[in-house]
This record gives sequence, structure tokens and C-alpha cells, in this order.
Amino acid sequence: MSKPIVAVVGRPNVGKSTLFNKLVGERIAIVEDTPGVTRDRIIADAEWQNHHFTLIDTGGIEPHTKDDIFLQMRLQAEIAIDMADLIILMVDGREGMTASDLEVATMIRKHEKNVLLAVNKIDSLNLENNAFEFYNLGIGEPIAISAEQGLGLGDFLDEIINRISRYYNDEEEIDDRLRIAVVGKPNVGKSTLINKVLGQDRLIVSDIPGTTRDAVDTSVRYDGQDYVLIDTAGLRRKKKIYEDIERYSIVRAIAAVERSQVVLMLIDASQGVTEQDAKIAGIAHNRGIPSVVIVNKWDTVEKDNKTMKKMEGDIRDALSFMDYAPIIFISAKTGQRLGKIFETIEFVKAQSAKRITTGKINEAMAEFTLMKQPPSKHGRRLKLFYASQVAINPPTFIVFVNDPTLMHFSYQRYLENKLRETFDFFGTPIRFYVRERT
Ligand code: GDP
Ligand code: GDP
Repeated sequence: MSKPIVAVVGRPNVGKSTLFNKLVGERIAIVEDTPGVTRDRIIADAEWQNHHFTLIDTGGIEPHTKDDIFLQMRLQAEIAIDMADLIILMVDGREGMTASDLEVATMIRKHEKNVLLAVNKIDSLNLENNAFEFYNLGIGEPIAISAEQGLGLGDFLDEIINRISRYYNDEEEIDDRLRIAVVGKPNVGKSTLINKVLGQDRLIVSDIPGTTRDAVDTSVRYDGQDYVLIDTAGLRRKKKIYEDIERYSIVRAIAAVERSQVVLMLIDASQGVTEQDAKIAGIAHNRGIPSVVIVNKWDTVEKDNKTMKKMEGDIRDALSFMDYAPIIFISAKTGQRLGKIFETIEFVKAQSAKRITTGKINEAMAEFTLMKQPPSKHGRRLKLFYASQVAINPPTFIVFVNDPTLMHFSYQRYLENKLRETFDFFGTPIRFYVRERT
């Protein structure tokens, strides 16, 4: 479930996006309704031989430093060092080694990161010798590939999986602590919240030793229950230089969301939901991970008896796709209602793991179709044969019908809402698939 992160670093025009598109193919996973992220394809799901990983093209994160290659390279490398489990340094086998290649290699070496060196544009056998000079970067054996021609990619992917295999350790089995991503834009109060939570005496803090990725994970205990907070706040980072780059904080947030089971989505009470908040929320939603919307800095808002209702309404409008998510109002600074957070986490977690028996679902479905007749097209009417919950986390339903093309969007929405209502699936996303009965 927790997927390793592989970041591609390299000068402009070495072929990063070509590789990226080749590797992820049709399976681009940053989903339709998260504009900006999709368009630029800076982060995606990749899969090789049943091993899933998250691929990040660091070259797409900050386009505004294009004029200064060194600056851009340094930024890319820092981002990759910061969050990747494996860095792929990509170089151009036709142009040969450059000063900025060396600079990045040196940075990576200093941080002792897991790294693979890909020499691209080796489009034919007689160019293979071009790869050798890159031994001089001092980061191991160069792997010759041609992203465009698709040459050498099988071996390359094998090696990627080989290098990240240690992260596929059935984490779930040995570690049953709930993983919680704390996300929100810079200055919304993520660090303050985490520090406050850690400061309460009911909590025991311990560092998780081991891999680099865990450096930003914090273990907490609340009411006898252990949790891992996945921090995107840069809690222990001295400078928050890159937090200001919007796309960087989005990528960071996505990476945290990918590894989490519950997302705490922090919103600034004085600003409401921003576009960036909506993007990140959209990702959690599409991944089927339950979110809790946390309105922070509630202490700064001048309130009357309508303020909370009004704010809630605004959030529901801005995050309309997530109308199931609980909203709570807190102050990280004063500690107001912090206990409510853990209570709500437990609630959404339980909701997401809930199972309804097939008998009950079909009974309910029969009733739904009685109350509102299924749609018809060209004289043919949609028939629901049978429905079943096939998975939890998130609850996933399949309904078998005579012809899925007869299922109108609004009718599907109706069934989903009825299911939610009837079985009280508040707090969690649900999935609903329509299949033809064969
Ligand atoms: P990025 O800036 O690193 O993302 O580079 P791009 O993927 O945009 O590629 C830059 C240029 O190199 C494009 O014109 C690609 O067609 C070309 N290119 C990418 N991979 C290869 C390759 O394997 N062989 C050759 N000959 N050209 C390539
Ligand atoms: P991060 O970038 O999301 O980690 O945000 P920080 O935790 O660094 O907080 C940014 C600023 O907001 C700091 O000056 C905090 O003191 C302040 N802050 C955080 N939470 C609250 C809150 O609940 N109320 C008030 N008044 N200020 C807060």
C-alpha cells in the first residue's frame, strides 16, 4: 500500500518527460479533476512486474528558473533528496558529461542517497560506449537507455525495482499503526499542530529509525493508540525554502497522501479553501483515502452564532466532491479541540473499513429502484440484477446490470447517495462500479 517514491532528476532536454511518459504509459494516475497536476504530468503511478511506485519528474516542478541551469538542478536535486526513496539521475549520452551533471551527482553522493544513473539517447548499439565516461560521476554503473526508442528499459526497470524492493516490506503486517498525512499550504499551521500534539503529555514521542523516508515520520500515541504522522511541514527542516513553490508543496503533499490511510486537510480559517487545497483534497478523494477537513486558526476569527455554519457552507461548496468529509474547527496554537481530531480520525477509519452484507445491500437496492425507477434509453430500461460490497478502505460496491450504458450519471449518483444514507457511510469516500452481468 505504501508506495516507494522514485524521482527523476536531470538537465533540461535530457529526455525526462519522454521517459516519464514511456514508463507510465496509459496509467497516468493523477486524476482527471485535478487540473494543473495532470497537465504537467509531474507525478504519476508507475508499475513494473506488479511492483507499484510513484514517479516524480522533478524537472516539471519549477519552470521559472529555466535560465539558470545550476539553480534549477540544485532545486531538483534537493527536492529529490528530500523525498525520494530512489533518485534517477538522467544524463544525455549524446552530449556527454556536463558540469551540472557533476554538480548534481556530487550533491546526491554527499547525502548517500539511493541512486541510479541513466544515460539516455543511446539509440543504437554503436553508441553504447558513450555511456562509459559517466563512471566519472562517481555514482555507480551507468545504464544505457533510449527513452524514445524504448531500448534498455526492461533492464532499467528491473534495476529500479531491485533498488526499491526493500520498501516493499509488507509494512501493513509488521506495522499496524495508522498513517496520517498532515497536509495544507505553507503557514496554515501544520508544524504548530504537530508540535502541539507532541507536546501533550498523553503522547509518547519516538523517532522511527531506519530509512530516509521515515525521517519526516513522527510516531505518536493518543489514548493508548499509536499513530504515525506523515509530515509535510518540514518540521525538522531548518529552512522552508521550497515550501513557497506551490507545485513543490503540492508534490510533497501528494507524496504524503500516497502513503497515508487518513488525510488531515488543514484550512486556514481566515482564508477558506484555496485552489491548492482543493487539488490536494481531490487527490485524497480519488485515491479513496478518507479526509478530515480541519479549519485551523479558529481563534483568529471574529465569530457570531452564524460564523461556523457559514464557513462550513463555503467549504462544502469548494470541496463539493467530498461532501462526506467531517469538518472540525480548531486552534493549533491554543490547543482548542485537539482531542476531537483523533476522535474523528478513528471515526473515518472505522467508516472506511465498514462492511455491509450482500443480503442487506440487495434488499436496499430493490427499495431504491422502487422509489425511483431506473432510466431508459430508446425503449430499453436499465435493470439492476445484483449488488455487492467487494472491498473496504474505501468501501467499494459493484452493481451488475443488463447494460451499463443505460446507467445515467444522475441515477448512479442517486444510488450512491442512497447507499451512503442507508448504511451511514459518512466520513469516507466510496466507490461504485457498474458492470454488465455476464
Ligand atoms: P526533458 O526536458 O528532460 O523532459 O526532455 P524531453 O523528454 O522533453 O526530451 C528532450 C528532447 O530529447 C526531445 O526532443 C526528445 O524527443 C529527445 N529525446 C528524448 N529521449 C530520447 C532518446 O532516447 N533518443 C533521442 N535521440 N532523443 C531523445
Ligand atoms: P506550516 O507552514 O503549515 O507548518 O505553519 P506553521 O505551523 O509554521 O504556522 C504558521 C504561522 O501560523 C505561525 O506563526 C504560527 O504561530 C501560526 N499559527 C499556527 N496555528 C495557529 C492557530 O491556531 N492560531 C493562530 N492565531 N496562529 C496559528
